[in-house]
Amino acid sequence: MSTILIDGSEGEGGGQILRTALSLSMVTGQPFRMEKIRARRPKPGLKRQHLTAVEAAVTVSRAIVEGAFLESTSVEFLPGKVIPGTYAFDVGSAGSATLVLQTVLPPLLTSNGISRLTVMGGTHNPAAPPYDFLLKTFGPQLERFGPRLEWHLERPGFFPAGGGRFSVTIFPVPQLAPVEWLARSPIRSRMARALISRTPESIARRQLAAVQQRLAWSPDGCLVEPVPAARGPGQALLLEISTDEITTVFSGFPDRGRSPEDVAIEAIESVERWMESDVMVDEHLADQLLIPMALAGGGRFRTTEPSSHTRTNASIIRRFLEVDIGFAEESSGTWLVTVSGKPHQDAGTAESGPGNAT
Ligand code: ATP
Repeated sequence: MSTILIDGSEGEGGGQILRTALSLSMVTGQPFRMEKIRARRPKPGLKRQHLTAVEAAVTVSRAIVEGAFLESTSVEFLPGKVIPGTYAFDVGSAGSATLVLQTVLPPLLTSNGISRLTVMGGTHNPAAPPYDFLLKTFGPQLERFGPRLEWHLERPGFFPAGGGRFSVTIFPVPQLAPVEWLARSPIRSRMARALISRTPESIARRQLAAVQQRLAWSPDGCLVEPVPAARGPGQALLLEISTDEITTVFSGFPDRGRSPEDVAIEAIESVERWMESDVMVDEHLADQLLIPMALAGGGRFRTTEPSSHTRTNASIIRRFLEVDIGFAEESSGTWLVTVSGKPHQDAGTAESGPGNAT
């Protein structure tokens, strides 16, 4: 098979291009070479999270890799056989453990044995899916494609101490089924959770007050949640909205110089955009659903205006799979994303066996 050449500065130019290439390279057996990795980020090249994702992909698919070191800006990846099994991956910093998991999930969803993955690092990071998003939003929607997932959070990990740890058991299926997310049914519950680890409770209370004031959510559904098991100080605001079909977790994280109210506003505005548009799939789930949809060979969803992450992900997916991914604006702020192509079937290369614990 010829090596696919990918320019990592394309579109969004961040870590997702690399993760998607790793996932689909493992699934299809296609080698790839990527240059200019994360060229549009202030500090380009592989950070700990991305390096761990590369190493995890090497372990799961018995791959050969070149360029797998910190700050490397090019990687060549030649996948071998995907082996389901028991694996542990440690980011070794507060870098996102959830993004490492998302890298190795796709090939294991249709492999021929159960896998159990434990990932250590940050579980509640800015600009990455918090663990709760995987548990309540992404995970249940992924199960609609056929596989079953069982999650367990041992302890959260926040920046800068990290040290979070969670595991997921993956019960695969031979082939993913196409799924649609079109009409949104009425909201049946709302909940705001302000997680705190060794930080003043007043920060959480101020965030929840902002949620009650601006979204008019009931104080009964606004909870301060201490997380004593975390290794260091940290905080996250999680706003969860459920319909009968989907729970969406919107989040806000503290950052230097931002008041608790500013953190709350970030999450509140995401909720408002989603509520106003009457769609099922939020901005982040949109880019994360494209890989399983492309592997299923079809599906549709309504979402808000596709982000540059979503469009870039579509363009990388098209490099590996024969698939059309279309974006059509149906009305102001409402878009229909359609995936059609050949469903991916495991070429029979996967075999089961005891995985490596790393
Ligand atoms: P970078 O290269 O920017 O340092 P990265 O490797 O962390 O990046 P990105 O390329 O920015 O990654 O991709 C981030 C991923 O995290 C995307 O899939 C995005 O949808 C997801 N994400 C970001 N914020 C959230 C959030 N609040 N909730 C759920 N998912 C999120």
